[in-house]
Amino acid sequence: MQIKRLRLSGFKSFVDAADLRIEPGLTGIVGPNGCGKSNLLEALRWTMGETSAKSMRGAGMDDVIFAGTGTRPARDFAEVSMLIEAAGQESEIVRRIERGAGSAYRIDGRDVRAKDVALLFADSATGAHSPALVSQGRIGAIISAKPAERRAMLEEAAGIAGLHVRRRDAEQK
Ligand code: ATP
Ligand code: MG
Repeated sequence: MQIKRLRLSGFKSFVDAADLRIEPGLTGIVGPNGCGKSNLLEALRWTMGETSAKSMRGAGMDDVIFAGTGTRPARDFAEVSMLIEAAGQESEIVRRIERGAGSAYRIDGRDVRAKDVALLFADSATGAHSPALVSQGRIGAIISAKPAERRAMLEEAAGIAGLHVRRRDAEQK
């Protein structure tokens, strides 16, 4: 799967519409502290269905909406659109959140459930919890984790965490 384009509006610090085309090969994002590099990666994860506000560095999911500055008023919605190509086919995934009203998703203009977005990315072996996405501070967390926590992280990365869930289910039956 290839991410070809990312468009943001009102998402975190991206108050004005931003349109990024991602060409094949290695892409780097550089800039001074606080310019929005991590926010961009969070926008990717969010569009893929992230449900944890904490992992988006917020108290609630509305915190992804531009909160305003001394000179600019807050926005009442945020929207991120991601153009992907998988198996030779392009799809556009959009997630939109309105303040106080929650999120909605669209794939190629059709309203869909969060689950449909999760399945689309799972079929490409990626998603909001893909071990390919390593957030800032995560390396330090792995180094300082207790052995059992570290094992859980490695199991998640190896894709076997789901097996434990199914085993616990089976044991309770
Ligand atoms: P570093 O190099 O320190 O990792 P960075 O480029 O990754 O920096 P980010 O963490 O992506 O920077 O951006 C942080 C900026 O985003 C802060 O200035 C913060 O105020 C701003 N920001 C985060 N959420 C919002 C929001 N909801 N509304 C407005 N600004 C926001
Ligand atoms: Mg950062």
